[in-house]
Amino acid sequence: MKRTEYDVVIIGSGAAGLTAAIYTARANLQPVVIDGTLPGGQLTTTTEVENYPGFPTGIMGPELMENFRKQAERFGTEYVFDTVEKILPQNHGYKIQLSSNETIAAKTIIISTGASPRLLGLPEEKKLMGRGVSTCATCDGAFFKNVDLIVAGGGDSAIEEATFLTKFAKKVYVVHRRDTLRASKIMQDRAFKNSKIEFVWDSAISQIHDVEKNTVTGATLKNLKTGKTTELKVDGIFVAIGHTPNSAPFQGLIECDEQGYIKVFKGTQTNQPGIFAAGDCVDHVYRQAITAAGMGCQAALDAERYLANLE
Ligand code: NAP
Repeated sequence: MKRTEYDVVIIGSGAAGLTAAIYTARANLQPVVIDGTLPGGQLTTTTEVENYPGFPTGIMGPELMENFRKQAERFGTEYVFDTVEKILPQNHGYKIQLSSNETIAAKTIIISTGASPRLLGLPEEKKLMGRGVSTCATCDGAFFKNVDLIVAGGGDSAIEEATFLTKFAKKVYVVHRRDTLRASKIMQDRAFKNSKIEFVWDSAISQIHDVEKNTVTGATLKNLKTGKTTELKVDGIFVAIGHTPNSAPFQGLIECDEQGYIKVFKGTQTNQPGIFAAGDCVDHVYRQAITAAGMGCQAALDAERYLANLE
């Protein structure tokens, strides 16, 4: 780290954080980005991104984020490979405590720590992520044309993803651990009417095949009431059992909703003056790279105006 005091500290380096960096750096505010545990964010865990505007033939997720990073660097963004433990208010700003034990003083902070998809906890799941296992139908659905798929979960995300996937897939099995859905009535009705969707109730995925072949060929399902197991041949498994916003280090200081999503009031302003939030740590509805980038831009402009008013 070159300095210990910054006008703008950006926490998180996904689409929201790096867009905030491009804008604040270009406004000559010399921001620092605290990378977090997954530099580049969730997009670095996907393969091809076909829906980010400006790339008519698509772009690989890691390459897209590398481009964001270089673009922010070009205007003087500094990067620190570290994570944030805590933010403490201090006169005219904040003190940020890093895991490395270093501290940084900040006049403004942009929190863009994203959200982590919840996983089933199966050992094969992580190994086959991006190789048949996915946590984002909008990102990866188009790669699964005319094949059978599983969606795990019973909430709005699972039902929305299952319905979306029927545009491509031959059949979508929704595997849910109970016999009623948590999803809203309207989404349920739509799914029940969709002839391509079949529900597998009271069941959990107990194994994903086939780690040896490095691709998904099927799954073993266990009925949680009877204990009976069955096997399904599928080419893809979409895990849609919710997300956890990465807001734990800010709890207590920053107001969050009951699920832990950071609350923003005017634009991207949090309950603390000079602290702004953008991207998936705020938004549980849209959750797209382009919407996160858009919010990152808003947060940068909000921080810039806040600093101008301080002077
Ligand atoms: P959610 O509402 O928390 O639902 C998660 C689902 O996954 C539940 O059905 C849950 O089962 C199941 N689940 C959780 N942990 C599991 C595990 N370890 N193994 C198997 N199943 C598990 O999450 P979400 O669907 O992502 O929705 C999050 C929020 O975003 C909600 O407020 C939702 O309304 C909103 N949302 C809205 C829309 C929309 O309106 N278009 C779209 C997506 C999301 P149980 O039911 O048994 O708990």
